[in-house]
Amino acid sequence: MFCLWDDLLNLIFPPRTTCPFCSGTSPAGEVCSRCLEVVEAYRRESFCSRCGRLPGKGDNVFLNAGAAGLCVECRKRDWPFVLARAAGPYEGILKDAVHRLKYAGKRSLAVPLAGIMEQVFREEPQFAAVDLLVPVPLSREKLLRRGFNQAAMLAGKLGARQQTEVDENALVKDFETSPQAGLSRSARERNLKGAFKVRHGKKISGRNVLLIDDVFTTGSTMSAAAATLVAAGAKQVFGLTVVTGRLF
Ligand SMILES: [Zn+2]
Ligand SMILES: [Zn+2]
Repeated sequence: MFCLWDDLLNLIFPPRTTCPFCSGTSPAGEVCSRCLEVVEAYRRESFCSRCGRLPGKGDNVFLNAGAAGLCVECRKRDWPFVLARAAGPYEGILKDAVHRLKYAGKRSLAVPLAGIMEQVFREEPQFAAVDLLVPVPLSREKLLRRGFNQAAMLAGKLGARQQTEVDENALVKDFETSPQAGLSRSARERNLKGAFKVRHGKKISGRNVLLIDDVFTTGSTMSAAAATLVAAGAKQVFGLTVVTGRLF
């Protein structure tokens, strides 16, 4: 009787046997070895020691840029965050997974994505100082439209795995900025001016905060959010995203 019941349940709710990233076969529904290999290969690429971005295919901007493995941009400018890191480039399986999480509402993807962020978290020695995780917020309008903040989901999962405090509401985004895609960096930065506010000032003061987001492209969003936390008295601010841009 019970066996029959189990069979029936398996028929109605088949156990997940596919990789969450590529939908290939994976017995326990974990990220498959092929996808893990892709992610591990990303981690072996050189990246800018400050902003964490990756070189474009076929050219090594960091070799040409000289000093301390900085990208061309980081040699010219300062950021309000100490450093930013990502699990891989905004392409292939990771881009696809981020898109399905954000735009197709596939919330279960936050678990494997937080899993690969955790590897980066452990690999970066400076993250040992982190004592508070803060997700980059969405505006109220966007949050209502999407129904969830993917950055808050990632921060929540990572915080639980690392036993690090998470404050989902430390930062708020006051107004919706016009779409950032296609804008120059200075236009993006103008756009974001004053967009972020700290809600729990006391909680931020003296803390080593890790800002969590899904995507780092020009760094304008991470930069504006980090500057707001620094102004509220954060001791150090770091950034961690699932994916980051390539510098061509
Ligand atoms: Zn896979
Ligand atoms: Zn850089």
